[in-house]
Amino acid sequence: MTTANPLLQTPSRPLPKHVAIIGAGTIGPDIGYYLKSALPQIRLTLVDINQAAIDKALQRCQDYAKKAVAKGKMSEQHAAAVIANISGTQDYAQLADCDWVIEAATENMALKRRIFAQVEAVVRPDALITSNTSSLPAERIFAELKHKARATVTHFFAPAWRNPAVEVIAWEKTDPAVVDYLRWLFCITGKVPLVTADAVCFMLDRIFDNWCNESALLLGCATAAEVDSVAAEFVHAGPFFVLNLARGNPIITETNTLQAEEEGAHYTPAPVFRSVDTWLTVPPGKRVDVAPETAAAIRDRLLGILFSQSVDILDRSIGEPADLDLGCRTALGFKKGPLELMRDLGEAETRRILDRLAAERPGMPMPKRPLPAYQDFWRHVLVDDVDGVKVITLRRPEAMNALHDGLTDEVLAVIRKFESDPAVKGFVLAGYGARAFCAGADIGRFPSMLGDAEAATQYARDCSRLLVHLDAMKKPVVAALNGMALGGGLELAMRCHGIVALKEAWMQLPEITLGIVPGIGAMVVPYRRWPQAAETFHDMLRRAERLTAPRARELGVVDALADDLPGLIAQAVARVTTLAGRPSGIAQGPVPLAPLEPIAPAAASGQPLSKEIMAILENAVRDAAKAGTLGEALEIGYRAFGASALTAAAREGIGAFQEGRKPDFGKTA
Ligand code: NAD
Repeated sequence: MTTANPLLQTPSRPLPKHVAIIGAGTIGPDIGYYLKSALPQIRLTLVDINQAAIDKALQRCQDYAKKAVAKGKMSEQHAAAVIANISGTQDYAQLADCDWVIEAATENMALKRRIFAQVEAVVRPDALITSNTSSLPAERIFAELKHKARATVTHFFAPAWRNPAVEVIAWEKTDPAVVDYLRWLFCITGKVPLVTADAVCFMLDRIFDNWCNESALLLGCATAAEVDSVAAEFVHAGPFFVLNLARGNPIITETNTLQAEEEGAHYTPAPVFRSVDTWLTVPPGKRVDVAPETAAAIRDRLLGILFSQSVDILDRSIGEPADLDLGCRTALGFKKGPLELMRDLGEAETRRILDRLAAERPGMPMPKRPLPAYQDFWRHVLVDDVDGVKVITLRRPEAMNALHDGLTDEVLAVIRKFESDPAVKGFVLAGYGARAFCAGADIGRFPSMLGDAEAATQYARDCSRLLVHLDAMKKPVVAALNGMALGGGLELAMRCHGIVALKEAWMQLPEITLGIVPGIGAMVVPYRRWPQAAETFHDMLRRAERLTAPRARELGVVDALADDLPGLIAQAVARVTTLAGRPSGIAQGPVPLAPLEPIAPAAASGQPLSKEIMAILENAVRDAAKAGTLGEALEIGYRAFGASALTAAAREGIGAFQEGRKPDFGKTA
């Protein structure tokens, strides 16, 4: 059965041992490098008809690995494994023992069909065959394959070694187990698979290509630099800047011609794409002045096409709404997803923009349902049912599942929706992907609260709404730590009624290294819940020391360990059943506290820390342990967070974080 979180199912095949990529041009080698960095043990073969392309591709893989080592992002040992066992060939016979062949050759139907025939002649009948086509439906490119069930489109986005999004096309003839396996494989290797229907240009290129095409059609009334300057409100890089980077003009001509042939003349590509090589525009961060009326016309048209394409994608079930927003943010560099933009602009403004588009661009799709109907979905979580337990997966892959208001509210909304349903035994919280449960909380509005203790205290109280709800729940919630749990993410796990973890998972409270204190429970809850581990928590709070899952198991903080994700979820679900009807386990009255022996203000990493923040933290821990009720103790934590906002250390720590440098607490108290 397909699950919303791809990692909840057991894969139907083992990891591939030998993967081939056909086409060593722009994107093929990048796909290969991603796979080798995630799975260095595989053998990778790059196939091209052009030896020079192969040589360049092999060199590119070496250069990427060298760069990653130089930047400290990869160890020398890992890099050596990544670049080992990569070879190039012009001979398709070398693919005989491949488990997976990814075609990334020139975008041309006849050529791709020829390639698949050549591949099918040499590989096993069950070897996976996928195409990286940007626009050609699977049904057509695979029409002549003998064994279609193992074939589909896996559409990557540039730069494919880093861009997390991959569309996986669920088409009629492919085995659903193949789609599930690919989702699983992409997810464990750090990608974000987005399942789409087999429509021309799939989901995200319908957005991107038409966003670019509309921009080019606007050139009658504005320059490329003006369009990019207006678009900067919505995207990290304007359409013309991206087209220059990707050398994308011919691609838009091709894909929009296909859309025009299939769906109507309103998709006809702007003729200017055929005659322009490079656009004269401004880079991200730079803008030219645009006359207000022109800016308004550009803005309306760009938003109009974005909204039109989005409602069309949903009305035709080409993709899921949460995937559409996530894909636009991760693959296409939008600051907000289109549905999020529609929600924030409101119904009247969205309607005005769409009406204007309908008048200026007759034929473009318009909503088939009332606008609020497009907003009814979970944006940041995936919800699965496993044996009567709701598994809520935090999905913010772009921020390692860090909490923000929207995510916190959504988890709370899912819990509220199901907690009184007699068919639901309880809940499991997990993180998306194989790396993080939750990397903390977004810095959000906190920088604007520096210097305002009251506002920061209230912020901590507000951010606790989910946690306070967990404290009072009758049905159990179990945290399944599938990777790191940091800061606010660990504070969330601490309030769940049980914690299970993968053996490789680890926990940390890094707040003190930022010149602040963890204000939503970490100075309070562990001492009331696991007094036997008090000294470990002293070190975590005061020195940002890491706690590994196995050590946490020994200390009784973690209830059970698991080897893999399906095992982890099974343990978590079992734990929900065991905990049914039991109270939260957080002591309500005062608790004794192991003494906080004086220590030098330095983190476990050696980073010097602020003495002032250390004092705020230690006082809060002591006072909270003495507090008569859990509620009073939590208040002490909120106020300590507020007090930290008044310090020079917080200003320095947060400033350093935003600027990507190490803080210097030497110049603060
Ligand atoms: P490209 O033109 O840069 O490279 C294509 C490569 O395929 C060339 O090196 C060419 O020699 C090789 N080739 C042609 N015929 C071949 C054959 N019979 N056997 C083996 N190799 C052959 O193209 P690209 O930009 O890398 O795009 C490749 C595919 O990926 C296209 O379908 C494209 O639509 C898709 N795509 C590209 C991007 C991107 O950013 N470049 C993004 C998403 C999807």
